[in-house]
Amino acid sequence: MIDYNYSSKLTMLQNIIIFWKRRNISPLGKITVVKSMLLPLFTHLFIALPSPGVHILNQIHNCFYNFIWDDPLKIKHNILIKPYEEGGLNMIDIYSFEKSMKLTWIKKLALCTGKCFVLVYSLFDVKKMLNMGNAYVQKIVKRLTNTFWKDVLNYYSIYVNTFKICTFDDVLNMPLFYNDNFKIGMNCIYDKNMYERGIRLVRDILCTSGGFKTKNDIENYTGKVLNFLFYEGVKRTVSDFIKKSSFATVNKSNTTGVFFSSYLNVIVFKAKPNKSIYSTYTFNKEKPTCQNKWNEIFNNIDWKFVHNFVFENSRDTYIQWLQTRIVHRILGTKSLLYKMKIVNDNLCSFCKKHEETLTHLFWECEHIQPIINYIKYSMNLNNINFPNISCQDVLLGICSEKMTPINILFLEMKRYVFICKKHSKIPTVPGLKNSFQLAWEIQKHTICQGSEFPNWSVVRLLINEPIT
Ligand SMILES: [Zn+2]
Repeated sequence: MIDYNYSSKLTMLQNIIIFWKRRNISPLGKITVVKSMLLPLFTHLFIALPSPGVHILNQIHNCFYNFIWDDPLKIKHNILIKPYEEGGLNMIDIYSFEKSMKLTWIKKLALCTGKCFVLVYSLFDVKKMLNMGNAYVQKIVKRLTNTFWKDVLNYYSIYVNTFKICTFDDVLNMPLFYNDNFKIGMNCIYDKNMYERGIRLVRDILCTSGGFKTKNDIENYTGKVLNFLFYEGVKRTVSDFIKKSSFATVNKSNTTGVFFSSYLNVIVFKAKPNKSIYSTYTFNKEKPTCQNKWNEIFNNIDWKFVHNFVFENSRDTYIQWLQTRIVHRILGTKSLLYKMKIVNDNLCSFCKKHEETLTHLFWECEHIQPIINYIKYSMNLNNINFPNISCQDVLLGICSEKMTPINILFLEMKRYVFICKKHSKIPTVPGLKNSFQLAWEIQKHTICQGSEFPNWSVVRLLINEPIT
């Protein structure tokens, strides 16, 4: 049944892709198509049916991947799914997305009481599952035969396992029992009497001053005798954990009431729970390989800025994609195309003398330097305080808010140079000015907020400047 549901959607997916492939859009535009048109085909199935299994998810993943990249020069998937500032393009990871969709059921379980989940209540103890740590979830998963709920709990367990503690409240709201973080010897802690009297989270065994409740306090509260060794063991494992979480010991807040565990707090109360759960699943420590190469050429690169600035400063997808390819070193320079055996030589399209690397194409070439000099000259003439501009500034941007107009200027310059290369024309100063003029005309008619106009101040100065 699952395969049947998915196969019709997969056919639809392929048809939509054939339609969009005919249009000449950049991977950035295609990612928008994936997220707004292709992904919604599956959202409902992901929520309502058991996991389709790796073979179907692989098929969807491959369809997306082949759709986005018909160019042999690609960005790795693990990087592509990261946010802009980490060098990604916010691409969706279908495997994580499917998991995060299933977890919407955990929110429903946490909020709905009563009859709506009769079936689920017959399968496992929902309350315990929500109030305890991962070991308990695992225990249920092992004996569940219902594949749908097995998937939901399995994904919940992965989420709990990778949960990152961010605040001291997260520490206070850790489930005390069946939590892999709290062990006596090899075993997770659990005490039936304490649990039944409502002691569930770390905060429940702490006083308002932050210290532990005494053995007596707990015994008075539960009305049952507490094993001395158990009490000491709990104290030790919990205080070890608090120390390890490296938050300065903060006094426990005085608020009383019902608390959800830290895991559920994200799922139930966060404004966009799916997004933060999804990012827990996609998290990886991989860094874009381009960073190593640029670090060999330039100094002190602020990577967060370099990856992000084009998206902050331009809405033009041509510019965004051009700059992304420069940063990731996947722009089709002849140096790169020669290495890939796509062209017969690696010589610069303009001067035909030197290797056409990124730094040569946008800075060193004898046909580019006059353009840079013209820009410098015009700026001096207009009394613009201009730092000693470098190759790094032109290629990777200048990290300063004040420099936004200059960053925009060089983004536009690179557009002009790259278009010249594509049309086998030598870049010239009048050509550059025409290109700026056109870009500014388009800009004027597309931006609605006047606040963006100042960012174009330097480009505007340059087109009003007569050529000397
Ligand atoms: Zn050249």
